[in-house]
Amino acid sequence: MAETRGPVSGVVTDIQRFSIHDGPGIRTTVFVKGCPLRCFWCHNPEALAPQPQLQCFPDRCIGCGDCVDACPQGAHAMRDGAHRFDRSRCTGCGLCARTCYARALVMAGEVKSADEVVEEVLRDTAFYETSGGGVTISGGEPLQQPRFTRAVLAACREAGVHTAIETAGHVARDRLLAVLPVTDLVMMDIKTMDPELHRDATGVSHERILESARLVGESGTPLIIRTPVVPGVNDTVESIDAIAGFAAGLRSLVSYELLRFHMMAGSKYAALGMACPAAELTPPDDELMDRLTAAAARHAIAVTHT
Ligand code: SF4
Ligand code: SF4
Repeated sequence: MAETRGPVSGVVTDIQRFSIHDGPGIRTTVFVKGCPLRCFWCHNPEALAPQPQLQCFPDRCIGCGDCVDACPQGAHAMRDGAHRFDRSRCTGCGLCARTCYARALVMAGEVKSADEVVEEVLRDTAFYETSGGGVTISGGEPLQQPRFTRAVLAACREAGVHTAIETAGHVARDRLLAVLPVTDLVMMDIKTMDPELHRDATGVSHERILESARLVGESGTPLIIRTPVVPGVNDTVESIDAIAGFAAGLRSLVSYELLRFHMMAGSKYAALGMACPAAELTPPDDELMDRLTAAAARHAIAVTHT
């Protein structure tokens, strides 16, 4: 039966075509806004809050002053020829970003209908067919906008496109159950099996995440478990061994992926007026990644690392 897509819309931060890191083959990745976790190493800070936000890149400013007149809240000013921005006044309406031709002001997050997004995804159908790719909904947390995510996935599925989600798993059971029938692959992060550490590092308990992983495993939907390897959180053999042991018990597990932490989002934090808590962390080296991969592989599962 055809899905009703017209009235459904979501807040999207980006639609990335020709993506090769978000599932098999060449994919279009749709990044949605809003996440219930606050992992201190997050490299998508623009996707954390659910509402559209203004990003400010002072290096690009040409000092034209157009934003001053555009803003109904008086958040912009020119002083001594230099642009000043008072974020505390900003409501995120986006009017100034539309006037800033230098792209010093850029909105993170735009409301798009499911129809619009599906239309964009289907442009690359030929590439999906030749590469074994498809569409991936990522974020943020795709299941924070369950109706939108389901509508996009269902329509793409109906058009013969392979569908995937990247989820942190901290979601209500009914939301996950609603998308599984239209999802060909679930990629889910498990950061640590230590409950206290999980809460400290991400702001939430891991109970619901483990429950979600079990639910996907029982459903039979192909599942890739992934762990961002972050110094001080899970960069030990013991920690990865515990996660891999859990993953090995999931019936529909395809593989386990270790993703090396890299902090490349410093400028995104600055543009949002946020501190970057992981700025000083050093990425794990090759020797450590190999050792962790070998530890995980002892559970007789397919393991890869970046
Ligand atoms: S509109 Fe853009 S370029 Fe012009 S002053 Fe404002 S921030 Fe700078
Ligand atoms: S997004 Fe709206 S409220 Fe915020 S600074 Fe721009 S015009 Fe002002």
